[in-house]
Amino acid sequence: MNVEQIYKDAEALLEGHFKLSSGNHSSFYLQSAKVLEDPKTAKMLAQELAQQIQKASIKVDAVCSPALGGLIAGFALATALDVRFIFAERVEGQMSIRRGFEVQEGEKYIICEDIITTGGSALEAAKQVELGGGEVVAYAALANRGFCARVGSDIKAQDNCKLPLDKPLFALEDFTFEMYAPDNCPMCKEGSVAYKPGSRGN
Ligand code: ZN
Repeated sequence: MNVEQIYKDAEALLEGHFKLSSGNHSSFYLQSAKVLEDPKTAKMLAQELAQQIQKASIKVDAVCSPALGGLIAGFALATALDVRFIFAERVEGQMSIRRGFEVQEGEKYIICEDIITTGGSALEAAKQVELGGGEVVAYAALANRGFCARVGSDIKAQDNCKLPLDKPLFALEDFTFEMYAPDNCPMCKEGSVAYKPGSRGN
């Protein structure tokens, strides 16, 4: 499966001059919502991810995603694994599990995101699952930005990866494009102005 091509075809891998939420600049931007816009593509990607997890003989009772970004990928993965799906959401900045969702003692969870950058939100969701007595057995994402190590890739975890090193991360593809501090950005030096994806009504 050529995940990069699937992202390109869905116009989910944008090329330009972007200001990322970290404040850094990049010539690429991943917009996973676009790739998941087609339910058939979402289903196909989630099935591929589920196969990796099943091949590793990991037993899973439920999938939990941090809202909003991880919802569609997590639901699709739970469907492919035929397990329960819940989500965690931020309330006044604090990740919490609400809406009547119950984590059972000893239940085995996969935390699923659309993209793992440093894994901060995924880790916060994992902590909420563990607070409820659940056991986080693995992390999953469609795309890995290359800061965390994943099963089946040579990429090493970097210092800013927040995911625990003793839990596997499953993802379909590494997208390791360069990021630049604004005062060191070659595109800025050429006089172009970075923009934040989404700020033009898209
Ligand atoms: Zn720039």
